[in-house]
Amino acid sequence: MSSSGIRFDSVTVAYDGNVVLDGLDLTVRPGEVMALLGPSGSGKTTALRAVAGFVRPALGRVHLGDRDVTELPPHKRGIGMVVQSYALFPHLRVEDNVAFGLRARKVARAEIRTRVAEALEMTGMAAYARRHPRELSGGQQQRVAIARALAIRPAVLLLDEPLSALDARLRSGMLTELARLHRDLPDVSMLYVTHDQVEALTLADRIAVMDKARLQACGTPQELYRAPANEFTASFVGNANLLPVTVTAESVIFAGTELKTATTTPPGPATLCLRPHLVGLGDGPNRLTGTVREIQWRGATHRLHVDVDGHRVLADLGELKHPPALDETVTLHFAPEDAVLLGATDG
Ligand code: ADP
Repeated sequence: MSSSGIRFDSVTVAYDGNVVLDGLDLTVRPGEVMALLGPSGSGKTTALRAVAGFVRPALGRVHLGDRDVTELPPHKRGIGMVVQSYALFPHLRVEDNVAFGLRARKVARAEIRTRVAEALEMTGMAAYARRHPRELSGGQQQRVAIARALAIRPAVLLLDEPLSALDARLRSGMLTELARLHRDLPDVSMLYVTHDQVEALTLADRIAVMDKARLQACGTPQELYRAPANEFTASFVGNANLLPVTVTAESVIFAGTELKTATTTPPGPATLCLRPHLVGLGDGPNRLTGTVREIQWRGATHRLHVDVDGHRVLADLGELKHPPALDETVTLHFAPEDAVLLGATDG
């Protein structure tokens, strides 16, 4: 199994003249897990299908490693794919489902046996080889689907919302399993489509944030969380307070109050992005005074909703011994280096 990355080179896809993927430029490095994260309809699956060869770009090229595969049929691309609905053959036993792609490729019988055993081992399904899909739970069926994709020893694995049919508990277990699989297969590049930020943050080396057919941002989870490039990214990756501010040559003004920030943007209207867990209660460097509208106790934390001059500010605090009362006036603060200024965006 040779390693190979994925490169989208200005890939545009349109259905009936409707552009649903608009000039995507993106590189997935060999061995990297890249999450395509975005709301429903943002073009994520379309991007993945362009790599698989199920849709033809109207413009642009798709490369796998140093091969331009834009014109290549799907079965010649050496790609494994896992979709949300498992898509197992109900009448075939687990081992035959896993062997399916190998038989189609006319792999020798002894080799098929080795690879099926290896793939089932890797996904923890070796004991279920003789069962039919209907005799398995949803999570087990998805493991078989993953085993089937791995059996062809793909250099690239495409996963399209692979956990969204599972319940929350299974999903978190499978997330751990997928992370382990990534460690076990350091040469396999993975493109992982999801609308779930937890999946993306947990699993991905880098995240490509999609909205309205376009790539909005791309970076490591930490980069996107700490220094989002725009409002969409700030609100889609983690929680964010997004406050309208005015930037002048000397300062940043929010609701008539002067704030200090570590970075700045050109003078004019801008948005201040402040992560709720970086907001403190009480006096501090940057003060925001407002009225408590809601208090949520979440076990280890308290979340306050504070109305500051008509803007809702969320503060995620450690568990408070003496939480404020509803409608009480409180002062919040944050450190200059924890506020990120976002320039005006084209929305
Ligand atoms: P996502 O995966 O982010 O939910 P998709 O890539 O599936 O988004 O879809 C992007 C847009 O393309 C959507 O508006 C969807 O309705 C449209 N679309 C997807 N597949 C087809 C198709 N086969 N024919 C027409 N429109 C499609």
